[in-house]
Amino acid sequence: MTKKTQKIAIVTGGANGIGAAISRSLRSDNVHVMIADKDVDKGQTFADSIGASFFQIDLSDAKACQALVDATTDQFGGIDILVNNAGFQHVCPLLDFPEDTWNAMIDVMLNAPFRLTKYVWPHMQKKQWGRIINMASIHSQVASLNKSAYITAKHGLIGLTKTAALEGGPDGITVNAISPAYVRSALVEGQIADQARTNNISEEEVMDKILFKNSAIKRLIEPQEVADLVLMLCSENAQSMTGSNLTLDGGWTSQ
Ligand code: NAD
Repeated sequence: MTKKTQKIAIVTGGANGIGAAISRSLRSDNVHVMIADKDVDKGQTFADSIGASFFQIDLSDAKACQALVDATTDQFGGIDILVNNAGFQHVCPLLDFPEDTWNAMIDVMLNAPFRLTKYVWPHMQKKQWGRIINMASIHSQVASLNKSAYITAKHGLIGLTKTAALEGGPDGITVNAISPAYVRSALVEGQIADQARTNNISEEEVMDKILFKNSAIKRLIEPQEVADLVLMLCSENAQSMTGSNLTLDGGWTSQ
């Protein structure tokens, strides 16, 4: 039996939430992981705890994106897996949406994935093997009120995913997106508590009547469920899967 070569991954936004679950799962699969995040306190401690490396970065900085790729190849000698996961939400009606916030969201959730894809590409081409996974959202397929920048960035990310998939095919590079509905995270749990207070209803009612109004499965998705899908996409079994936008939405978009 041939020994599996140890792969090398960059996970953006790996200090918290979904990115942390992905980083832990990749480490458990014996992958070298470079966690790239602006949150140095959580990021460094978490990276140390799972035997990963940490690179502090503001992903809206183009030069820092190149520095991240250079630091990863210097330390590990290549890059096989890129998980573009970092992101954030700002809820505000379109007419009042601050332009600097709009630009920051597009930078982190669309421009950074484009730049990192471009910078890791030659390293993947060299090995004729690569896996790029873009963390989209169910908001890459449907819109909700007052989330214009997030929804624009996530719809754009699917365009990038599909085009990169076409260009990567001949070189063994697959590019896919994952689109979850609400995943258990500090942000979402905070939103549920806020909605319960604002509407004077229980948190269970917020989930049933607001969050999961359109879902067949009415519960939060666990970050580990998303991480498991990332591992599957990184496996050899997924070699023919590219350009896909995989939903984990409890049936939200089935109707
Ligand atoms: P989170 O807030 O727990 O983690 C996001 C991470 O991104 C944080 O560690 C943060 O420090 C990092 N980050 C943000 N801006 C950055 C920047 N400028 N530079 C570097 N790092 C930065 O969020 P999460 O819920 O784990 O979300 C991860 C991804 O999953 C996001 O792209 C989000 O849009 C997507 N998503 C989340 C949900 C959900 O319900 N939580 C649903 C669908 C999609």
